[in-house]
Amino acid sequence: MNPQRTSRGILVCVSGPSGVGKGTVIRRLRSLEPGILHSVSATTRPIRPGETDGVSYHFVSRTRFEEMIAEGEVLEYDEYCGNYYGTPAAPLEEAVSRGTAVVMDVTVPGSLAVLERMPDAVSVFLLPPSFEELRNRLMRRGTERPDEMEKRLEKARSELGKASLFDYVVTNDSVEAAAGLIQSILRAERSRYKRQAGIEETLIQTE
Ligand code: 5GP
Repeated sequence: MNPQRTSRGILVCVSGPSGVGKGTVIRRLRSLEPGILHSVSATTRPIRPGETDGVSYHFVSRTRFEEMIAEGEVLEYDEYCGNYYGTPAAPLEEAVSRGTAVVMDVTVPGSLAVLERMPDAVSVFLLPPSFEELRNRLMRRGTERPDEMEKRLEKARSELGKASLFDYVVTNDSVEAAAGLIQSILRAERSRYKRQAGIEETLIQTE
């Protein structure tokens, strides 16, 4: 490939209410498109059983997180249900500049902050088939105490009202279908002229 044609990697921000299945859909998407990198966030929330530090999240103290904010080490951050969550800037910027697609799992304000800083990012809002199903999924997951679960459901109601601020809306009624749809979005986005500006000139010059 002509090195002049190496374009920036696409950044895909996926938001949606807690329990909608963002993690599962992103894992499936990455198995469909193994080249996609998942941005590992930093958080101050306690580690859950089955999670691995440095893989699921970078689990850090509040002091360390506040230091990361002060040092400008995070691209964006948000406080969600009493804990900080943020995207380490350096690995993401490095991946995008070498042409790697990166998928992020972030809160609604997180996606909006990324879009402001990186307007060429693509935003996807993942919807549950119904609010009842969202409650059932959170209950089945069983990772939160009942009071924390209620907080997340309350938050979900306000998040659902923000879907219109996103480029794409995908309903997660089946993981396979939702991941397939995001894969199609990614493929279509790669073909946008603005991401390949000048491609025809490169072809003419190398003829
Ligand atoms: P959980 O505690 O269920 O893993 O995540 C809670 C919420 O934090 C989810 O909505 C998830 O999308 C969001 N989140 C995870 N990482 C980040 C991040 O780096 N930045 C922001 N803004 N939100 C994040």
